Amino acid sequence: MSLINVESFACGRWIAPDDGARVIENAVTGHVLARAGQADLDTQAMLEYARSQGGTALRAMTFHQRARMLKAVASHLHQHKQALYNISYATGATLKDHAFDIDGGIGTMFVYASKGRREMPDSQVYVDGALEPLGRTGQFLGQHICTPLQGVAVHINAFNFPVWGMLEKLAPTLLAGVPAIVKPATATCYVTEACVRLILDSGLVPSGAVQLVAGGLGDMLDHLGGQDVLSFTGSADTAQRLRATPALMQNATRFVAEQDSLNASILGPDAAAGTPEFDLFIKEVHREMTVKAGQKCTAVRRILVSKDQVDAVISGLQDRLARVVVGDPQVSGTTMGALVSKAQRRDVLAKAAVIAREAERVHGDPDAFQINGDAAQGGAFVPPMLFHCNDPDAAQRVHDTEAFGPVSTVMGYDDLDHAVTLVNRGGGSLVASVITRDVDVARSITLGAAAHHGRLYFNNRDSMAEATGHGAPMPHMVHGGPGRAGGGEEMGGVRGVMHYMQRTAIQGSPDILTAITGRWVPGAAISQGPEHPFRRTFHDLRIGETLNTAARCITLDDIEHFAHFTGDTFYAHMDEEAAQRNPFFPGRVAHGYLLLSFAAGLFVHPDEGPVLANTGLDGLKFMQPVSPGDHVAAQLTVKHKTPRNDDYGEVRWHVRLTNQDAVIVAEYELLTMVAYRVA
Ligand code: NAP
Repeated sequence: MSLINVESFACGRWIAPDDGARVIENAVTGHVLARAGQADLDTQAMLEYARSQGGTALRAMTFHQRARMLKAVASHLHQHKQALYNISYATGATLKDHAFDIDGGIGTMFVYASKGRREMPDSQVYVDGALEPLGRTGQFLGQHICTPLQGVAVHINAFNFPVWGMLEKLAPTLLAGVPAIVKPATATCYVTEACVRLILDSGLVPSGAVQLVAGGLGDMLDHLGGQDVLSFTGSADTAQRLRATPALMQNATRFVAEQDSLNASILGPDAAAGTPEFDLFIKEVHREMTVKAGQKCTAVRRILVSKDQVDAVISGLQDRLARVVVGDPQVSGTTMGALVSKAQRRDVLAKAAVIAREAERVHGDPDAFQINGDAAQGGAFVPPMLFHCNDPDAAQRVHDTEAFGPVSTVMGYDDLDHAVTLVNRGGGSLVASVITRDVDVARSITLGAAAHHGRLYFNNRDSMAEATGHGAPMPHMVHGGPGRAGGGEEMGGVRGVMHYMQRTAIQGSPDILTAITGRWVPGAAISQGPEHPFRRTFHDLRIGETLNTAARCITLDDIEHFAHFTGDTFYAHMDEEAAQRNPFFPGRVAHGYLLLSFAAGLFVHPDEGPVLANTGLDGLKFMQPVSPGDHVAAQLTVKHKTPRNDDYGEVRWHVRLTNQDAVIVAEYELLTMVAYRVA
């Protein structure tokens, strides 16, 4: 294979490595594979290009437009993923590992594309939380909103996930409307470069939205300001160094750190050998030790089991690990690939030696193991290594030494409190898993340990067929952890987008808030359309367009008819004396559901038209009882519109029911699907 010159993409141009380049080795063969890096990249020009070109173009788009862009990019990458697989083998990854890195990264982008359209508005302002009434009459209110930062996000990634590591940051960043400069770890940057080329060649992202630095970042961080974000994934040592960058501190630049982590898996005291949970535990720990040859930030480093299960767990893991075939990922039979480099191999062996001072190695000898594949004999391989620490209370290094490879240590606990003490000794982790079917065990561990871990993963025979795995960060759930894990948080659905946006408290009148948010706020101006709103298409309907219906008298006959028809003969509707004894009612009252049904009878238009379906109702409040003889009228106002597909969108109506004294008796939001066109 000829030498790969890994290029950076800066200010719209690909730039070849120069004299400042570093050499990258093939993890499997140990031979030189590539070179990457420039001595003097114009980092200020890159930042400026991102801010002025990429940021401006992205901010002009709505969340839905950006989400559609992500979906198209993800589809494009999916079509070309074989090319990424092919090049990724040189990192030491197996086909199974590609599923985590390449398919996982593309899947994350798809999830953000979908969440952007389902959970974010088709506008440039994200509304965060509920309206806050700040005055007595409703003419002064508050609303939190989020808008994209007007800077650039610099993403520094670790070597172990050259595709997922980039895409899990890029998807929420682009969805927010912020351009990114991606700096992958040099050891595997050739894979990231291939992925960035696919993204840029697709022509789907605006210029300046994505740039790439292969090699060192130069002085880029010295030029970050208050509208920029530095999002880092890597070791605690590097994070500590980057945190201390003066420009970041001076400008309060956002810094999100995902660091290393001494994750643990706990076998619940209920899950002794012979239970399905015990077998599941062995399977999960084995997988976490060997996927990506243990080079996963979420891999299980500490295995906590009740003391009477230690021997059984060690023997179960020894059996599984003995079947691992270490070697060339492209040679048949291989189940675990290489570490990323010989330097990484040295590091893992040094860390394993530190662990060995406090624990006995019970499986895997790095000086005596087979490597599958003739061409792989000079590669960066280690066998899976299992340790047993007999005194985890006295030990320290087994709790703070991350050997970033297939290395894990079994420790015995006395009882649940002891297990909680031990699991928390990691000093803050990304994930802890608990294999248990005992709900009290799950609750106790949560109360004792949740504050120390970014994610708690429970699994047992009931959930195992669908469980996503201890080590797989899901885009829907937060990824990150306190303390040692960096104190950062990524993903978690729309939460992850907010790292790249500014939350602003807006205070003002209903009209001002309506204009800013694109959502009608009670008290804001209303208008009447030219015809019944159910005759109007999605695009014709205006925010604030309102229908005021006639009033309807609610009679005792109505209440009794409804009660017998539905079977809801609750005493407050049927028994005058009993109703009077109830503190909420003056006497017999109408059913709330009767009012809702009458309201629909008052506001719907019966004919076939653009309104396709009623899909739900939110925030229903019954505020005043309605007695026989009261009159009720409805006010229906277009609050918010969200396109759903090529044919129709969701219209959210604010509905208010009032009585003859203009007192609000009920309020809710009605959801309908409304067509763009009428056939
Ligand atoms: P690393 O050595 O800390 O490097 C991480 C990144 O930082 C690389 O891109 C590296 O670039 C860059 N870097 C190093 N020094 C820098 C500097 N002075 N200025 C700017 N960038 C700098 O970590 P790694 O060896 O790649 O990754 C392994 C570690 O990452 C493990 O500890 C693992 O637990 C952690 N990790 C954490 C997560 C998570 O989500 N929490 C995920 C994956 C990995 P170069 O490669 O060019 O030096």
